[in-house]
Amino acid sequence: MNSRNNGPEPRAAASSFSPYVPGLSIDEIKEQYGLSRVIKLASNENPLGVPPRALEVLKGSLGLSFRYPQSGVPRLTRAIAGHHGVAATRVAAGNGSDEIIDLLIRVLAEPGRHNVIAFKPCFSIYRLQARLAGVEFRQTPLNPDFSFPWAKFLALADENTKIAFVTSPDNPSGYCPSAQELARVACSLPASCLLVVDEAYMDFCDEEGAHSLLPRLEEFPNLAILRTFSKSFGLAGLRVGYGILPEHLADVLTRVHLPFSVNVLAEQAALAALEDRHFYEETLRIVRQGRKLLADKMQGLGFEVMPSQANFIMVRPPAGIAAAELFERLLQKGFIVRPLKSYGLDEYLRISIGTPEENDLFIEACEEIIG
Ligand SMILES: *Cc1c(COP(=O)(O)O)cnc(C)c1O
Repeated sequence: MNSRNNGPEPRAAASSFSPYVPGLSIDEIKEQYGLSRVIKLASNENPLGVPPRALEVLKGSLGLSFRYPQSGVPRLTRAIAGHHGVAATRVAAGNGSDEIIDLLIRVLAEPGRHNVIAFKPCFSIYRLQARLAGVEFRQTPLNPDFSFPWAKFLALADENTKIAFVTSPDNPSGYCPSAQELARVACSLPASCLLVVDEAYMDFCDEEGAHSLLPRLEEFPNLAILRTFSKSFGLAGLRVGYGILPEHLADVLTRVHLPFSVNVLAEQAALAALEDRHFYEETLRIVRQGRKLLADKMQGLGFEVMPSQANFIMVRPPAGIAAAELFERLLQKGFIVRPLKSYGLDEYLRISIGTPEENDLFIEACEEIIG
């Protein structure tokens, strides 16, 4: 290619970059299939929408949009710290936990020298941001039942490994390792490697205490936990996530990130969402109840259903219908679910838990297609 004609050439990591594959949008499908009602069970969003208190505060805050937010969002940082009972000096908030993932890679790993490890498949942002940063990304396959082969995982790590990413509960399977296992991994990794446990879905777990290392943070100097307002707090579109990090890393992240990555409205909404206990408890109740109902009904229809502790379930359709075909037939009926081709799991679909009504309609649609 003649760079004189095309202008400046991007870095190879940028020009060969293939972007994150999101779920389809409701408007796209309405238009494409001429449907008036479309139910989206594809992106693990909150089935109850925006917390009412956040919506109220958002309406009242629109007039603040001309102001810059306070840099580093100290009020939100303190509120998050209070919510988890950790020191505010450990918290770094960002434009979704995606931003925290990206910053951790760029802050810890030297391009061309260090590496980052994860399971395969995993949340694609780990791989995409490592590649873009010019950092080697190593993976080892999950066990066939989607549990975690820790010995193989630890064998990936060497003295140049700076981050080990683990998603718990895992996306897309819903599998959730025990806190004891994670504690052993934190101790077995090289001291120079940060164990990042991405707990985007931990709220939905039946027994958080048995699975999260958050209450034992002080025991592990190389442990970071990621959480988000996108799922249980119903604010995916506003983009707020955070890391609970070793103090020196929280400090570096808040110094290097772009000054206003959490915007004024997002900060106000997140503060209100933390206070809306009723919405939060109702979300957990609806998700846990819906998860059980969907799993039982789909098993009854002959699906293989992976046990899940998240706000979605991963399923394999019964013999006679391929996942891709079922996905297409569901779209025609106005249901968007998540095909898992981009995760290398062509035979599976991921279904986000909806409202009780959405779940019932979804099961009816599956019965019509399969029955
Ligand atoms: C949804 C999700 C997140 C959250 O991303 P945000 O940027 O906070 O919206 C993080 N990790 C995993 C594994 C997820 O599925």
